[in-house]
This record gives sequence, C-alpha cells and structure tokens, in this order.
Amino acid sequence: AKAAGPGRYEVFAPEMRAQMERRARVEAALHEALAAGQFSLFVQPQRALGSGNTCGAELLLRWLHPELGQVSPAEFIPLAEDSGLISVIGAWVLQQGCLLAAAWREQGWRGSVSVNVSALQLRSAPLIEQVDRALLASALPAEALTIELTESVLMDDVDATADVLLALARRGVRVSIDDFGTGYSSLAYLQRLPLHELKIDRAFVSGIGIDGHSEAIIETVLAMAGTLGMETVAEGVETAAQAAFLAKLGCDAIQGYWLARPMPVAEFPRWLAAAPAY
Ligand code: C2E
Ligand code: CA
Ligand code: CA
Ligand code: CA
Repeated sequence: AKAAGPGRYEVFAPEMRAQMERRARVEAALHEALAAGQFSLFVQPQRALGSGNTCGAELLLRWLHPELGQVSPAEFIPLAEDSGLISVIGAWVLQQGCLLAAAWREQGWRGSVSVNVSALQLRSAPLIEQVDRALLASALPAEALTIELTESVLMDDVDATADVLLALARRGVRVSIDDFGTGYSSLAYLQRLPLHELKIDRAFVSGIGIDGHSEAIIETVLAMAGTLGMETVAEGVETAAQAAFLAKLGCDAIQGYWLARPMPVAEFPRWLAAAPAY
C-alpha cells in the first residue's frame, strides 16, 4: 500500500476497511441466525418442456436480519463456509427441504426438490448421515430429492467426491451439476460418475439470441448430456424466446423468472395448483 503512493492509499484503505467490517459483522450475525429463526426457504419451480409438468423445484435460502436486512446467499454462503457454520445450516436446509417435499408429495405433486450443497458441506460435514436423517424424518422417497453440486466441487477432489456420489446414488438420491459450463469438467470423468442432471448456467442462457458462442455451447452441452444419458435443466430463463430456443434443442426443463421468481415456500402449493400441469 505504501508503494502505491499516498493518493491510492487514501482511496483504497477506507473502502477495504469498510468491506472487512461488513464481513466481520455479517459473520458474527450469522452465528445467531439459525437459532434466532432468521432463515427461511424460497422455492423456484422447474417446468418440463415436453409435458409441461412442474417436474422440480429448487430451494433457495433466505436470511433476514433485523439490522442488516435481507442478506444475499451469494454473500453469506461463502462466510458460512469459512466459519464452518455451513454444516449446521446445510443440515437445516436438507431437513426442512425434505419435510416440505414430503408435504407437497402428500398433496399429489410428483416433482423432485433440489437442494444446493456447497463444496465444504460435501467435504467436512457428514453429508450422507444428514441426508439419511432428513429422508427418514420426512419419509420422503430418495428420488424426490435432488442434490445440486457445482462443477468445481466435482472436479476438486475427484476420489472423495466419487465416494459421496456413489453413496447418494445407492440411496436413489438424484444428483445435479449446477452452473454447468462455467468450470472445467473432464468428460471422461463425468461419464464415470452417477449423475442424473446437468444445469446449464444462466450466463449461457442469457446469451441466446445475442451471442452465437453461448448458443453453440448450449447445443454442445445438450448433445453431450444426451450421450451421457443425463437430464438437462436450463437456469435463468427470462424470456419466451429463450424458452423456445431451449425447447427446440431438446432441453428437458427450464427454470427462471419467465416461469416464476423464487417464492416463499408457503405460496408454492397455490402456484402449483394454478400451473398448466402439475
Ligand atoms: P444458484 O444455485 O445458481 O441459484 C440460482 C440463483 O439465480 C438464485 O439466486 C435465483 O434467485 C437466481 N435466479 C433464478 N432465476 C433467475 C432468472 O431468471 N434471472 C436471474 N437474473 N436470476 C435468477 P439466489 O437465491 O440469490 O442464490 C444465489 C446462490 O446462493 C445460488 O446460486 C447458490 O449457489 C447459493 N445458495 C442459495 N441457497 C443455498 C443453500 O441453501 N445452500 C447453499 N449451499 N447454497 C445456496
Ligand atoms: Ca443451484
Ligand atoms: Ca445454478
Ligand atoms: Ca448460476
């Protein structure tokens, strides 16, 4: 900072300090959040492009703090990972998610509920035990639960990941690769893992009709998923034109604002009932 000269020092230091203070404040608050009942779950539906059925729904964590207000998961999940809190928070999401999925199933819905699992949760927490406990407590059939893992998680420690995926597959839990196309997966490796679904990242979907590269990548990913026998979901679908493009190329399902914004879980049954197909 000294070498940068007095001018730059003055510009950057207060900004960095504010950032660090915010981080410390959010992390301290995070320790109380679960016990204080500040977390809730939102849900965003997925629609099968063939049948029109609401084939799935992704659970998204929300945190409302009395002073900090609404804190984005993009901000607090990394902090929860750094502090080790992700294990208990993740267990709560799994537990609540399975109970919700079981209740919706009870009402006749046959979709699968997707739960995001972060890298550190996969490594440091007894994920399989948490999954078993959540399935047992809810009496949810395993195939009604989908675990979303990002591509970077898969490729990070391939042997350890393979063990966890095999344990999930043996139970019948579905596994989805989130944000697909943004990392560097080895196809040879993907082919050997028990994976059920690929989620095409929003970055490519937003390029439909604008950027030929994105369209070419989507086409390639869909063809590859077909070869590997995996289902495909496109995330971040915001327009009818994007949905039409994806349908034309044989993408199995879509998720995004065009279909529905994430909603409080209590609103989902009403949304489902009004959807064109259950
Ligand atoms: P993600 O898994 O890629 O989730 C999709 C994000 O895109 C969500 O943001 C969702 O609200 C947003 N989104 C959905 N449709 C659209 C659309 O059409 N347009 C645009 N612009 N955005 C759309 P959200 O809820 O803020 O979540 C951000 C990230 O936080 C998630 O990314 C996920 O990585 C993480 N996250 C959320 N909930 C959990 C959780 O329970 N556990 C873990 N480990 N991570 C979570
Ligand atoms: Ca996700
Ligand atoms: Ca995603
Ligand atoms: Ca994404």
